Amino acid sequence: MKPLPLPALDARTVYGTCISKTRPAKAKARLTQLEDQVAAAAAEFEKAAEAAALHTLGHLKDQPDGDKTASRNKALTGCYTSRMARKGSAGRHIYNQLLKAANGLCPLCGHGYANTLDHQLPKSTYPLLAVTPANLVPACLTCNHAKGDSDPASAQEQTLHPYFDDITSHVWLAARLTEPPEPGVSFYVAPHPDWTPTLTARVQLHFRTFKLGKLYAAQVGTELGALNDYLQGKPYKAIVDELQHRAASYGTRNSWQAALYRALAASPWYVKAGYLNEWDG
Ligand SMILES: [Zn+2]
Repeated sequence: MKPLPLPALDARTVYGTCISKTRPAKAKARLTQLEDQVAAAAAEFEKAAEAAALHTLGHLKDQPDGDKTASRNKALTGCYTSRMARKGSAGRHIYNQLLKAANGLCPLCGHGYANTLDHQLPKSTYPLLAVTPANLVPACLTCNHAKGDSDPASAQEQTLHPYFDDITSHVWLAARLTEPPEPGVSFYVAPHPDWTPTLTARVQLHFRTFKLGKLYAAQVGTELGALNDYLQGKPYKAIVDELQHRAASYGTRNSWQAALYRALAASPWYVKAGYLNEWDG
């Protein structure tokens, strides 16, 4: 999980830009009338996200209480699909700006190519938040699909939000080495002692939702296969030093590579000759 700065965009202005080219005038007037509600919902969202309390926004949910509301909500979600995400639309430059902040890397998995925007709270359930900048997170397609329309019912059920949750100050990603007869590597969340039970549950949910363990393990074979020849014949201490150096040289301590090399350096079995195994993660 990679934190990103909260976009410096005013929710009311963004909404105004998205609806600016709406025709006919009657449809535009209708959307304009909703501006205060959209701005208020965005302010509530930011406050709740900062407090890791997105589950408390139930009152902003789509209330299916008749045709009038259904039509209003369709118009609001349409602001995203037709007036922000669609190429050439009035808000498309904002969409591009939000996406660009990720520099191409999906902040949810830290691995995939970020070419979509994911709604932290789904627009189908929270139409008022359809174009709220703080609710729009760059994501790769796989993560976007994995999260789907999930709607947290409790504090523990919130996946991490890259604009509000930063867990990079602690090492929390760990790798486990299994020895023969089935040598392999798996990844898991090692909760930091300073974490609250809620944060621990959230990180574990994030890890499960985006299948990070599988994603990382899938790459181990290539990484270790290339290492076999390099380590072969080197003395024990030189191998440990090399592995420790690699673990430390990854700037982000919670990258799967850093976790992998920490585990390898700590395994006498691997250092002695385990590296000669066929590795497939
Ligand atoms: Zn991703």
